[in-house]
Amino acid sequence: MIKFLDLQKINFLHQQEIEERILNTFRSGWYLLGNEVKNFEQNLAQYIGVKNAIGVANGLDALRLIFRAYIELSVMQKGDEVLVPANTYIASILALSDNGLVPVLVEPDINTYNIDITKIEEKITSKTKAILIVHLYGRVVFSESLRTLAQKYNLKIVEDNAQAIGATWQGIKSGNLGDAAGFSFYPGKNLGALGDAGAVTTNDDVLAECIRALANYGSKQKYVNIYKGLNSRLDEIQAAVLDVKLKYIDAENEQRRQIAHRYIQEIKNEKIILPQLPFNTAEHVWHLFVIRTANRDRLQSNLADNSIQTLIHYPIPPHLQESYKELGFEKTSFTISEDIANTCLSLPIWPGMDSQHVTSVIEALNN
Ligand SMILES: *Cc1c(COP(=O)(O)O)cnc(C)c1O
Repeated sequence: MIKFLDLQKINFLHQQEIEERILNTFRSGWYLLGNEVKNFEQNLAQYIGVKNAIGVANGLDALRLIFRAYIELSVMQKGDEVLVPANTYIASILALSDNGLVPVLVEPDINTYNIDITKIEEKITSKTKAILIVHLYGRVVFSESLRTLAQKYNLKIVEDNAQAIGATWQGIKSGNLGDAAGFSFYPGKNLGALGDAGAVTTNDDVLAECIRALANYGSKQKYVNIYKGLNSRLDEIQAAVLDVKLKYIDAENEQRRQIAHRYIQEIKNEKIILPQLPFNTAEHVWHLFVIRTANRDRLQSNLADNSIQTLIHYPIPPHLQESYKELGFEKTSFTISEDIANTCLSLPIWPGMDSQHVTSVIEALNN
């Protein structure tokens, strides 16, 4: 069986170090808002190159808290609009609607699967306050023109960096390209915890302080509540595990790149559309390797018959989800996103994946 992702193997790459840190944390008797979180936040901030990193409970909360803080700080208000790619994971959209903000969907570029920057300006109205960019599948989306557009219309750029930790654009890490960024450390992400975990990064000290308070019951000082906050804290044990794995993220992303490059060079089947390599390889950390093909479902079951696990990211775009029927979209509202949803298939790609297995996946696809 060639697994889509083998979390046991991935984490056993650092078994001894992780087990030691977990045991130390257990024995310390201190489980929340302690030194492990402080230490990981510092190391993450340093790695990303930002002034502030705030550990939170998960990636969805990281994004929710950024927008909640902008509302608390009167930068945005309920009913304001935020531009977001139409083909993102549902969490990006939930982070907006949960705060009473209106998601305004923008089609992706079919070559990169990321938001089509040339289609942003036409969607901007007097209510637009931000662009939520999503570095989908691990590929950075950014450009000078995006920055200029944000300045021209006074929009915040928020990054959904759940899938792209370690990617860089012109030497700047994703998570340091906009005004604030949300990270997910869900176990299957490139930097995965042993459970739920997330973080926010930002150079904005006021925003950081507000998010830190919001994530801890809206309080900066115990039992003094300045905001109606929530409980969204990063556990000490998860922070300890993440701190170990952070040291290896660049090497592990490099392993993903090598597998991706093999797939791109060696899969030769005209019925399969391969993902495009960015001009600068540092812009992609290959959280997912997504191909497209007209007979996607048949290919997937065929691969399954050959003991190769694959997944679909994502089968139903947000605008066609039952939960967002209030937005009033129907089929053909966003044809590029729908086309991707109907044809995409994610191949196995992870650090420690056996090169023989990579070969088997390539052979199966060429057959
Ligand atoms: C995983 C993910 C999230 C949410 O992260 P959780 O930790 O699962 O809450 C948000 N956005 C994108 C693009 C993701 O892939």
